[in-house]
Amino acid sequence: MRGEREVAGLRCGQVLEQLSEYLEGELAPEVRGRIEAHVRACDHCARFGGVFSAAVGALRVVLRGSGEQADAHARLDDLLGRLER
Ligand SMILES: [Zn+2]
Repeated sequence: MRGEREVAGLRCGQVLEQLSEYLEGELAPEVRGRIEAHVRACDHCARFGGVFSAAVGALRVVLRGSGEQADAHARLDDLLGRLER
């Protein structure tokens, strides 16, 4: 990915790779925190927020349902809210 950089110990590609696990709540809190720190601090990810949103938008449809999935949905909204700032 052009312009990919390392922020908060993660490269942009790594953030994207772990996005689905992030949404599913499968990541350790410190890993989740690093992803959030990366997205907050990385203007590259902010600039490509549209791509990010498209990816998670597809997941959003799948995630409707159980309480656990609703929790993932809440985290997704939280993440998108930060990206759309
Ligand atoms: Zn990034």
